[in-house]
This record gives sequence, structure tokens and C-alpha cells, in this order.
Amino acid sequence: MSPIVRLSDVRKSFGTLQVLNGVSFSVEPGEVVAIIGQSGSGKSTALRCIDALETIQGGEIEVCGHKIHSPDLDKRALRRDVGIVFQSYNLFPHLTVLENAALALTCVKKLSKAEARDISLDCLGRVGLAEKASFYPEQLSGGQQQRAAIARSLAMQPQVMLFDEVTSALDPQLTGEVLKVIENLARGGMTMILVTHEMAFARKVASNILYMHLGRVWEHGPAALLDAPQTEELRSFVGNGL
Ligand code: ADP
Ligand code: MG
Repeated sequence: MSPIVRLSDVRKSFGTLQVLNGVSFSVEPGEVVAIIGQSGSGKSTALRCIDALETIQGGEIEVCGHKIHSPDLDKRALRRDVGIVFQSYNLFPHLTVLENAALALTCVKKLSKAEARDISLDCLGRVGLAEKASFYPEQLSGGQQQRAAIARSLAMQPQVMLFDEVTSALDPQLTGEVLKVIENLARGGMTMILVTHEMAFARKVASNILYMHLGRVWEHGPAALLDAPQTEELRSFVGNGL
């Protein structure tokens, strides 16, 4: 089995600021990797590089067979294989939840309206929003909007999903319902990389934890890592975070 995501010695800087200092890790199909670390350690940048939203200055990234570092990268093909969900939901306000989910299916995948509708309704069902299909984003709670954004990504039937602190704008109750959706996806075998500060959730759902510090993978291993940190940095991070 070859990895679905592979980063090898990735370097990324913004001007003179070196943000990723040689990041290497792999994600196997079906694996759920939780990236944790202090604010500014490069977690979001790493995720954005994986989805080719940033260009890298060194190293290699391969995602579902797409070579992200290659000048010949087909970004459209990449976007079909990778779903990404951010803290802000970025739903189109003038479209219903169903239309939001279906849009890329008709525009990018060129499916018929009926096919797009069926797939979208199925995905809305998976996030518990079947009844809200005809609602507009402003008629939904933050947690429901975030679940709609997840359904929109799922509708593209990606091979890997990336989540960047998707619950950090939500209050605890709404956070729980979004985490439940992600947990169900994990149990269904979806390959995922999630940046999270929900340590209990990471412990429960992740097959591997990746602790980033100063733009490097500082520690990487199963959740038991959190109980026996190898470095002072992770020990103090876990101590502060729990
Ligand atoms: P994290 O997600 O771990 O909090 P980020 O990857 O967002 O960290 O940011 C890592 C560092 O890169 C920070 O110092 C941040 O200010 C900087 N950074 C991120 N994006 C940009 C950008 N577009 N331009 C300049 N600096 C950036
Ligand atoms: Mg971030």
C-alpha cells in the first residue's frame, strides 16, 4: 500500500520567514492524522501546501498520485481528490444548503442536476442535515453551517479530507455535533488530516498524532504519544492544553 499523502523535506517561507523547515510525514489510506501544536507552528501552512494553496520552496509533496511540487500539477484533478474544510465555512449565502453542496458537482464534475442532487442529499444525510437542504446558510446555526461545508466537500467524493480547526469558531455544544460528524467519517474509513486543538478528540479519533513545533514535525506517533511525550516541548504543550 502506498501512502495517500507524502511530504518529504518540505520547506516553505513567506519572504524571510521560514515557516516549514523540512517537514516529512506520510499518511496511509484510511489513516486519521491529527496535527497539533502551538499557534504559529506551521500547521495551517502544511495543510495549505498539501492542497497546493501555497507553493513550496523545497522538498516534495505527493497527494493521491499528484505531484504538488511539479510545475505540471493539474490543480483541478487534485481538487477532485482532496477536500478541505476551514474554520470559516465559506458557504455561498445566496444558495441553499443543497445548492451549495451540488454546485461543484455540476460545474466541476459536469454531472447532471439530478445526479448532483442525489449525491448532495446523500452527503447532507451523512452530516445530519437532510431536513435543512432547502435552507439558506443564514438560517442555520454555526455548527449546521460547518456541517453543510463538510457535506459540500464530501459531495466531491474526495480520497482525502483536510480539516483546519473547523470547530474553533463554535461554542462547545456546536463543536460536539461537528466533531461527531468527523468521527463518523473516520469510522467509515475516510483518510483525514485534521489540525485541531481538541486534544480529547484527537486522542479518541486519530490513528496518529503529529506534533509540530517551529515548522518541524517534533513528534509523530500513536495517541499514546500524548501520555509519554519524548520532548520537553510536547510535554509542556500537553500540560497546558489539557
Ligand atoms: P498555525 O496554523 O500552526 O497557527 P500557520 O501555518 O498559520 O500556523 O502560520 C505559521 C507562520 O507563518 C506564522 O508565523 C504566520 O504568521 C506565518 N504566515 C502564515 N501565512 C502567512 C502568509 N500568507 N504570509 C506571511 N506569513 C504567513
Ligand atoms: Mg492555523
